[in-house]
Amino acid sequence: MEVLFVAPEISPLAKTGGLADVAGALPQALAAEGVKCHLVMPLYAEVDRAKHGLTPTGLEFEVPLPGGVEWARLWQGKLGPCPIYLLENARFYDRPGLYGPPGGEHPDNLLRFAFFCRGAVELCRRLNLAPPVVHLHDWQGALLAAYLRAHPFDLGPLTGAKSVLTIHNLSYQGIFPRHDFYQTMLPPYLDQVEGLEFWGNLSLLKGGLLLADRLTTVSPTYAREIQTPAGGHGLEGLLARRARDLVGILNGADYRHWSPEADPLIPARYGPDDLTGKEICRRKLVERLGLEPLGPDTAVLGFVGRLAYQKGADLLPEAISRLLLDDLRVVILGTGDPAVEHTLRELARAHPGRVGLELGFSEELAHWIQAGSDLHLMPSRFEPCGLSQLYAMRYGTVPVVRASGGLRDTVMPFDPFTGQGTGFVFQEARPGDLFHAVREALWCRAHPEHWSRLVANCLAQDFSWAASAQTYAALYRSLV
Ligand code: ADP
Repeated sequence: MEVLFVAPEISPLAKTGGLADVAGALPQALAAEGVKCHLVMPLYAEVDRAKHGLTPTGLEFEVPLPGGVEWARLWQGKLGPCPIYLLENARFYDRPGLYGPPGGEHPDNLLRFAFFCRGAVELCRRLNLAPPVVHLHDWQGALLAAYLRAHPFDLGPLTGAKSVLTIHNLSYQGIFPRHDFYQTMLPPYLDQVEGLEFWGNLSLLKGGLLLADRLTTVSPTYAREIQTPAGGHGLEGLLARRARDLVGILNGADYRHWSPEADPLIPARYGPDDLTGKEICRRKLVERLGLEPLGPDTAVLGFVGRLAYQKGADLLPEAISRLLLDDLRVVILGTGDPAVEHTLRELARAHPGRVGLELGFSEELAHWIQAGSDLHLMPSRFEPCGLSQLYAMRYGTVPVVRASGGLRDTVMPFDPFTGQGTGFVFQEARPGDLFHAVREALWCRAHPEHWSRLVANCLAQDFSWAASAQTYAALYRSLV
């Protein structure tokens, strides 16, 4: 079974969020299921070619676009057992930012990803790859689903291939002005409501949702939420219509990169049988951010994530200001919405020595925070799956989450009576609700008999990719 796995970001080559983690791990887990994935990604300027052992294939080919051809130079590398192909093009990818500058978008994203999808077709022609299934991700890959169905040009060895489109986040839809429809290279009959038209604009994702053979998303709860007005971002009707072709498959955690026993990035290693290393990680984390040293009962709260409305980071300042009456240190790592960055800066300034803030992207600090915190905060307004809570549990860090999407599917509320559960779950995205959930967690932390049970429950969770990979493999096979 061969699959063309077309992803706009793949960890560790290029990453802005969870999609990269999925694209970096799932193909390798699929190999164990007898599925050979050929990965395809743009060769962005920020991809470190030497570090990842990428080499030119020597192949250069034309990619037809409206207004003339563009050239692609093909690079190759390996991700575990999987071959990976990267499309180099100076005009589209030789600039900072995968999709745009921080908080923004490149103005030519439609052409950049039309080039990517069209380039994937040409790549298969040149390499004579004829995978029966193409697995696409988010709006950046949606046009390829439309090409496979509408056949606007010769598809070569991809003729007849089936498509699977995974929704990692429905709120990013690839919306463009309608007068740019010609740039999609799709037939004009798709420039209408039963096509890519979306409230007077174009939605690339909508085209994919309409035309892909199967749709998946990254948790069972999110699969239900996106069929409702509250979670559907205007696409709930279409998704409900396609409910029979839509399935929620929970993401896994790549424990090769996220395990405190073997994590090269953290200050000390530890495991379920001996948490001494975690204590070192807590102290080093606080020290690294220049916070006051920990007392015997001080709790450390961590947050790592994109500072977007989705993630509820704007709830943090009020909740944390109230929580700081307790003996706490708070560590926040993120980047995104300038307004949220501003309020977080104010929060840190108001509580020097107790709130540490780093605005930026740091893989290493993300690992430090997972290892060095007691509680991991995820007050997300919506969360398709969420990976950070999975990593947190593996590091013996208790998640405090809002009941949405994959957070609901993976974090079970802790019940001190039965000793069951893995975290704290609150219902409404309000600072007060976050505050109360953290207070409940701090109460447990002050009672070692409950806390040690809770941490042990977290450490015992297994969200490895194997089970999900089996489900994806079965889905691919059902298509051929
Ligand atoms: P999303 O894909 O919506 O951003 P997920 O929880 O699925 O959220 O995945 C987020 C991933 O991105 C995690 O691996 C997390 O550690 C990482 N991440 C997010 N923001 C940062 C940051 N500022 N620095 C380092 N890693 C980050």
